[in-house]
Amino acid sequence: MRHVAIVGAGLAGFSVARRLRELDYTGAITLFGDEGALPYDRPPLSKGSLKASVDASGATLRPSEFFEENQIALRPSEPVLRIDTTARTLQLRGEAFAFDALVLATGATPRALPNAIIRGLHGVHGLRTLADAQRISQAFGTAQHALIVGGGYIGLEVAAAAAERGLRVTLIEAGPRILGRVAGPPTADAIRAAHKRKGVDIREGVGLSAFVGTDQVKGAILSDGAHVATDCVIVGIGIDPNVTLAKSAGLATENGILVDPTCQTSQPGIWAAGDCAAFPMADQITRLESVGNAIEMGEVVAANIMGQSRPYAPTAWFWSDQFDLKLQMVGLSPGYDRIVTRPGVNPDAISHWYYAGERLLSVDIINEPKTYIIAKRLIETGKSPPPAQIADQSVNLKVLLKS
Ligand code: FAD
Ligand code: NAP
Repeated sequence: MRHVAIVGAGLAGFSVARRLRELDYTGAITLFGDEGALPYDRPPLSKGSLKASVDASGATLRPSEFFEENQIALRPSEPVLRIDTTARTLQLRGEAFAFDALVLATGATPRALPNAIIRGLHGVHGLRTLADAQRISQAFGTAQHALIVGGGYIGLEVAAAAAERGLRVTLIEAGPRILGRVAGPPTADAIRAAHKRKGVDIREGVGLSAFVGTDQVKGAILSDGAHVATDCVIVGIGIDPNVTLAKSAGLATENGILVDPTCQTSQPGIWAAGDCAAFPMADQITRLESVGNAIEMGEVVAANIMGQSRPYAPTAWFWSDQFDLKLQMVGLSPGYDRIVTRPGVNPDAISHWYYAGERLLSVDIINEPKTYIIAKRLIETGKSPPPAQIADQSVNLKVLLKS
């Protein structure tokens, strides 16, 4: 492979480029982005960054010298418009660009509320990019009352940041409970309680019917008929993978760009990684939306471009920071039939262990990083300690790693 082209200068695209050089790939690497910035990390955008003015340099993954030293040709303002899989070229605005291997790391786009609801009103924001975070942080400087639509990680983290900036905060979640897609009921209970303590008004099972206002948003009418005054709305209702480029090139897609166990798409020599990629895991097509997935899948793609034929078999892991809660999760809980609770060493720490029969599927940990490290190791090595031992605080978890 003399020339690897990577579409998408986010975390997954960056991870492919970095790992190719670590593996002593000596050919050319070109990384195409469309945000006009050095690759950056998104997690701070919904956490610490919103508590103050958002500094563009704070989240940058590497300085520009890194790309020069590693001979990674970064083209951060060059959207890729089309792929010609026969000629093996990318269509850019002014040229056709030839590649030997291609990686699609195009990420995802936040879902938007219907236009009939937004009506072009000012004060309604989505959050994906640094520019979005800068706009929201600025709005928090003058707003009185934030309405957060969606009780996933984006919604809850932004609600915590807004409350810490002194705004009144209302959060609505259309599903029966917050974090329905990404954490179990006891974890959602702990997060809900923490928000309540800080004055965030969380309303579950409630959607949005309409906004009030003619130019600037002034309020919202909810699906239960309630009226909420607001001058700043943040929408966090999930994301859709960016598949248009792949689809128009004839690549297979299925809630993401479909890849085989080695992360290769339906076209040989074209790979996909990160939020945009749907891969086989435990007999299902899965798409993970996380930092861990973007880094590790990117690394596997790089290894496979180098001819290693490595299957991608990740252990999912996530984290979230809200107020003084540090939530860490490992594994995936769907299919669980039992939750085992283990009290933490300190009163503000706890962990919830999800089992299907005797098999440990996942663990949610609050404020106990040491337990997270052991839980991650247990899940990675496929170990399932007896639930009674997990529930027994006198049992040292480290011992379970050895059994
Ligand atoms: P992206 O980061 O979306 O990068 C894709 C890039 O490709 C984008 O820059 C896009 O503009 C560009 N692109 C798309 N199409 C083209 C094209 N045709 N040509 C050129 N460029 C193109 N995960 C966690 O695990 N923990 C967290 O705490 C956490 N916090 C988050 C906070 C926020 C505010 C957000 C938005 C996400 C958070 N995530 C978190 C999720 C995590 O950031 C994503 O899973 C990760 O960024 C995915 O990386 P990616 O490279 O696949 O996609
Ligand atoms: P998400 O996890 O999919 O959560 C969105 C939530 O909004 C869901 O609970 C959804 O309910 C609800 N919802 C959908 N439509 C609604 C409506 N009209 N009114 C009220 N609620 C509605 O996605 P997200 O929180 O927007 O996050 C976007 C991406 O950023 C994800 O990839 C996420 O993983 C990532 N992120 C991660 C972190 C982290 O890991 N700490 C932090 C921030 C962002 P239904 O499921 O019932 O539709």
